Amino acid sequence: EQLANQIAAGEVVERPSSVVKELVENAIDAGSSTIDVVIEEGGLTLIRVTDNGQGIDAEDIGTAFFRHATSKIASSKDLFRIASLGFRGEALPSIAAVARVECVSSSETTGLGRRYVIEGGVVKKDEEANAPQGTDVSVRDLFFNTPARLKYMKTIQTEIGHIADYVNRLALAHPGIAFTLRHNNSQLLRTIGNGDRVQAFAAIYGTSAAKAMLPVEGEHPDYDLSGYISKPEQTRANRNGITVVVNGRYIRSFVINQAIMQAYHTLLPINRYPLVVLELGMHPSLLDVNVHPSKMEVRFSKEAELREFVEQSLAKALGKQRH
Ligand code: ADP
Ligand code: MG
Repeated sequence: EQLANQIAAGEVVERPSSVVKELVENAIDAGSSTIDVVIEEGGLTLIRVTDNGQGIDAEDIGTAFFRHATSKIASSKDLFRIASLGFRGEALPSIAAVARVECVSSSETTGLGRRYVIEGGVVKKDEEANAPQGTDVSVRDLFFNTPARLKYMKTIQTEIGHIADYVNRLALAHPGIAFTLRHNNSQLLRTIGNGDRVQAFAAIYGTSAAKAMLPVEGEHPDYDLSGYISKPEQTRANRNGITVVVNGRYIRSFVINQAIMQAYHTLLPINRYPLVVLELGMHPSLLDVNVHPSKMEVRFSKEAELREFVEQSLAKALGKQRH
């Protein structure tokens, strides 16, 4: 069991940003309206995520830290219609296998709080606690018991860069949630969570970039598409300004990147990339999110059709701007 957790941990917990991703996704799944992320030393000494979501029932908190105990997958068919972000029940046990974790949670159903402490897979505390509704998970000393993994960590700047990038994307993906991100006592992000994506966009890329965006809307029997793209003259030197959200999940997709670049074809100076936020909705059976444990890559069942639809919708948005 311990070994299985460490092996799973190697897949799920590659670096501090992977922990942030899993914890924040859990907070989103819990229906939170505020999510606060506190990081110290690039996440190697502390990663803390506090939410005001539905909480974990006192009697379930222990099982949440055991492998697959909570898996939401009832059959392999379910893998193709997953709605919540988490589904493997692997993240918490994996994180707890390679760090010192304290989880304090109070659930809306019972109103009872519980503190659970687990270090390197060993349970240290499981006791009643006073806590506001929601969940507060602190992950300290990541990789303290896997020194080989620790050696691979880059500089604090690199690690916080990955974390900030991820939290920014999730904030863009969920403009209805108020996010904060602090690192070593400086605030890196704050969104107000009023549901306005332009507002979230402004918090991340600045107000003037947000003002210069063009709205995108697309309708299709299988897909709906909305979002914002930059004018061809408002571009960036890399692809990092492209955020694609599918059914609430921030993903990376070669197919959609192709569609985006194709829509801008001939409009962009060489080696320039647009700022893009796209939200795509589709029936969960049309995508497979189970390609990789980190769940960043997805596979679409009708790639060519989707590429065409996204490209057309973007070209329309860009075309309107030219006259
Ligand atoms: P998964 O998200 O794949 O189900 P996790 O290991 O990430 O697995 O979490 C295990 C379970 O613990 C979740 O299914 C959920 O029931 C509970 N849980 C974890 N984090 C939270 C949270 N922030 N708020 C409420 N419940 C949570
Ligand atoms: Mg999860």
